[in-house]
Amino acid sequence: MTYDRNAASTLLTALAFARHGHAVFPLWWPVTHNGQTVCACGRLCGKQGGKHPHSRFAPNGIHSATLDSGIIKLLFGLRCPEANLGVSTEKLVVIDADPRHGGDEALAARCRALGARRPAAAAHTSFSPPLTTSPSRASPQTR
Ligand SMILES: [Zn+2]
Repeated sequence: MTYDRNAASTLLTALAFARHGHAVFPLWWPVTHNGQTVCACGRLCGKQGGKHPHSRFAPNGIHSATLDSGIIKLLFGLRCPEANLGVSTEKLVVIDADPRHGGDEALAARCRALGARRPAAAAHTSFSPPLTTSPSRASPQTR
């Protein structure tokens, strides 16, 4: 199995989300095994592969999310540095732009209309609510 994500970047991103009041939790991650991408949990997870809560370090899924920087450093820095990052969306509005169906162009047009900047390579864009038409209030964050 191979793994090629930047674990330090995930830890820093998790800490940044927590600093902004968004609780985080670890997810399983995708791995390459015999030329195929599979979930690191070892089960056949289908489309949820590499995207579902880590059974050991987030046993209650979103309810295991934390803002505690010490716990975040322990989880993402020591215990499970390969983990994908799960973020509580309790205080966010998240848009999953599906580029296969024109979602990226539609989102870019909407961001232009709002006067918000949208990074080009982001698969997901989140906004701090309230989402308004005021350009100064729309603040996209990406992951
Ligand atoms: Zn899995």
